[in-house]
Amino acid sequence: MEKETLKKVGIMGGTFDPIHFGHLMIAENAREQFGLEKVLFVPTGHSPHKQEQDVTSAFHRCRMVSLAIADNPGFLLDRIEVDFKDVSYTYRTLEKIKEYYKNTELFFVLGADSLFDFESWKEPEAILENCSVLAAYRKHQQQEKFFQQIDVLNEKYPEKFFPLNTPSLEVSSQDIRNRLHYGRTIRYLVPKEVEQYIRAYHLYEGEVSEDEACRNRKKIEKGIG
Ligand code: ATP
Repeated sequence: MEKETLKKVGIMGGTFDPIHFGHLMIAENAREQFGLEKVLFVPTGHSPHKQEQDVTSAFHRCRMVSLAIADNPGFLLDRIEVDFKDVSYTYRTLEKIKEYYKNTELFFVLGADSLFDFESWKEPEAILENCSVLAAYRKHQQQEKFFQQIDVLNEKYPEKFFPLNTPSLEVSSQDIRNRLHYGRTIRYLVPKEVEQYIRAYHLYEGEVSEDEACRNRKKIEKGIG
């Protein structure tokens, strides 16, 4: 389908270090509830929020996203930020996405923690000129505070913020990295292809034998082509 003909597109921005079922679940529920024809997964490039040396290379993060979304025709990887050399600010990313999705309504999908940070992002008004925000509740936040925050933001930026009705999955990339570091299981927290990839490339200091890593690398490279 031509980009110009899409009416509603979601944008799921994140470091995705690594991508996990929490990301996939909120993106899928946003797609369904708001009738989004596509959800673009936009891995961060040079993020203003995170120290670069602490983040896995964009190469690996993008490949994990590709593997995770491969079976969902409603999901697409967008490399707009990782291919951009300067620091990527969300408002600039959205302006660029709007250039090629001219007549499309854009929806930025995020978790509750990002909702509370939103006003500290650069140029929040400029972000909201190009999109509405769909926010998913995360369990470690109080539900009441979450809805209050939506109301506070909507008073300031009318009808721009919507709560997502999605099951909450208390998983974070940080938790997955910690689990791998301590040799604990990450099964059922990330798609199995992502787990295989992590083990194949020894990401996050996961414990794995070289034999198993090598077998996984061959399987993955054959699949990715
Ligand atoms: P980290 O633990 O490294 O900070 P993260 O798991 O929060 O990472 P990011 O890639 O930073 O993942 O998040 C991208 C977006 O997805 C953010 O808006 C975040 O709030 C949201 N998100 C991440 N995990 C969940 C989850 N389990 N439920 C709902 N939203 C989530």
